[in-house]
Amino acid sequence: MNSQLFEELKLKYSLPLLDLLYEAQQIHRANHVQNEIFVNSLINIKSGGCSENCSYCPQSVHNTAKVPVEKLMNNHEVLNKAKEALKNGASRICLGAAWREVRSNRDFDRILEMIRDLSQLNLEVCCTLGMINQKQAIQLKKAGLTAYNHNLDTSDTYYSEVISSREYEDRINTLQHAGAAGLSLCSGGIIGMGESIDDRISLIIALTKLTHTPESVPINLLVPVEGTPLQNQEPIPSWELIRMIALTRIALPKSRIRLSAGRNKLSHEAQTLCFLAGANSVFLGEKLLTTENNCMEDDFQLFNALGLILHKN
Ligand code: SF4
Repeated sequence: MNSQLFEELKLKYSLPLLDLLYEAQQIHRANHVQNEIFVNSLINIKSGGCSENCSYCPQSVHNTAKVPVEKLMNNHEVLNKAKEALKNGASRICLGAAWREVRSNRDFDRILEMIRDLSQLNLEVCCTLGMINQKQAIQLKKAGLTAYNHNLDTSDTYYSEVISSREYEDRINTLQHAGAAGLSLCSGGIIGMGESIDDRISLIIALTKLTHTPESVPINLLVPVEGTPLQNQEPIPSWELIRMIALTRIALPKSRIRLSAGRNKLSHEAQTLCFLAGANSVFLGEKLLTTENNCMEDDFQLFNALGLILHKN
């Protein structure tokens, strides 16, 4: 671990909040278009039945949450949903499939076809399909994929508390394959799973140490779902999320920071502080894979009140 950066971030974490926000906002303004927000739309193209054992996830076969197991969505339906998202102001579409890893089979061919179709629209296309090898990463890139999402979730040391069906190293390898194929990386984590502040800082450091710096960093607040091992996890105060976003902004000045799952639990004012801390991207739409997201009208009211302008490709 880069201990100097760790110590620096730890020191910043304990700054008075307004000082931390001031520093993060200065870095944000030096590296991003002021008052601009990136809007993404997430489509769950293959729900449930995943063989990984992520403790937070209702789509894992190891958990008893009642998520329907569905086959891969048909391309026509995906295309229609993407067009609708584009109309609503999305500039990136994210396709999520609950798989441990991608198999090079008919489903993967259909996803490549889906990406080819979507890349004809004025949209960036991202997907999250589990682990991929180098060849698959190249195929995805050739099909027109913009970015690959694969979250590190938490620190290396806390990882086995949350997931034991894969190693941290597996995540890093997939990110390496995606980056080497020329895909932008989208990688972040979840806070509120019982990890320490040090774990959160270690996660940020792990992201900065990837060979290809993530262009997008989703920061999620745990949504405890019934039927998952983390169902009774106590919610953390929004101040912790705001501080996490500010530290991420300081450590990764050029990345888009996406305020992701758990946003619907935040007041307008708490979301505003997240934007001030450096978040400049959100998911739009009433569902995030399997959990609830903010109501779109409410989001647009907030964007208008804050004078935020949607990024256009
Ligand atoms: S790999 Fe993804 S879909 Fe599978 S259990 Fe983990 S979070 Fe859920």
